[in-house]
Amino acid sequence: MTHGTRHDTGIRAGTAFAARHDRSPAGVWFAPGRVNLIGEHTDYNDGFVLPFALPQRAVLAAGPAAGRRSTVRSTQEAEPVTFSAATVVPGEVPGWAGYVAGTCWAFREAGYPVPELDLELDSDVPVGAGLSSSAAVESAVGVALAGLAGVEVGPTELARIARRAENEFVGAPTGGMDQMAAMHGRAGRLVFLDTRDDTVELVPFDLPAHDLELLVIDSRAPHAHAGGEYGQRRRDCEEAAAALGVPALRDALLDDVERLADDRVRRRARHVVTENDRVREVVRLLGVGTDPREIGPLLDASHTSMRDDFEITVPHIDVAVEAARAAGAYGARMTGGGFGGCVIALCGARDVAAVTEAVEAAYAGRGWTAPVAFPGTPSAGAARLG
Ligand code: ADP
Ligand code: MG
Repeated sequence: MTHGTRHDTGIRAGTAFAARHDRSPAGVWFAPGRVNLIGEHTDYNDGFVLPFALPQRAVLAAGPAAGRRSTVRSTQEAEPVTFSAATVVPGEVPGWAGYVAGTCWAFREAGYPVPELDLELDSDVPVGAGLSSSAAVESAVGVALAGLAGVEVGPTELARIARRAENEFVGAPTGGMDQMAAMHGRAGRLVFLDTRDDTVELVPFDLPAHDLELLVIDSRAPHAHAGGEYGQRRRDCEEAAAALGVPALRDALLDDVERLADDRVRRRARHVVTENDRVREVVRLLGVGTDPREIGPLLDASHTSMRDDFEITVPHIDVAVEAARAAGAYGARMTGGGFGGCVIALCGARDVAAVTEAVEAAYAGRGWTAPVAFPGTPSAGAARLG
């Protein structure tokens, strides 16, 4: 099994629309999935993250509705869903179409007009693998709505609209990284995001020039208790910030964190504070043109911190990280919220096959479902396709 990118997704969403409605769509838009290079669980602590947009993307063909209500279809879902884009409010559209209807609602809430639409969605972002297929859908809807309304809405405002759909319509209490990466991504660039004020700096990440590849390995581990654990981590961080008397852990000093009385809360806070430092150090190194191999130890340290202090890794993840390193990766870490999802491994271009095979062998030896590896190539952010 592979997660190969389907470069024909735009064509398929567009032709699917044309075939079904007997007319061309008004336009076709896309938004990518993302992977986070470093900066985990920092985004709800006013901290720093460093994701990039993937070549895998959600593609949306859209046109004015033939009827009085909006209809959305997805290649990945059996049934269409109908709703009123002009009046929909939270609670009215459950399930996958909530990401679409929710973005219509949030776009209206921001003061822009939303007409009734026929929508055709297709995506090659793996769902539920921690690569943010949900933000890809919302962000594709966001750029499409702006294009259809003929209004200029900047990428940061669109990302906030998309995030609002996820938080307040779907009801998933996520931070703002995913939508910002989907909107601001650029080929060959990382998106350095300060989540306190949503400022973005694009950082060069030219792996081919250094004979490197960033391998993304989908562990395909069964997700266990991710939602409840996520909420618990957020509460631990809030408790730590309150005990330290700072607005957010972004403002905490490591020396003060080390004096926290509660062992669990201290370790959670230590992860966040040291992770923020690691993000800034990676940005500094890459910004001055250092060989990207030099960030390997920071990726490794991030993983150790997630495993021992934040306690969000699982055996499938730790095994993949260890196997990748043993097979020659310069650094490897879990990426994403934890309890499953993906690992990234910084590899020499010549070592990619050996690293992939080592992780596959480690999984096979344990009788686990085979992992899926693909190159993480920093790619373009949301835009119109045609
Ligand atoms: P992740 O964002 O990590 O992939 P989430 O649970 O946040 O995982 O979002 C996955 C959900 O997003 C899916 O269960 C589905 O409801 C929705 N979704 C993502 N891609 C599509 C798609 N192509 N068509 C329909 N729904 C989608
Ligand atoms: Mg998601």
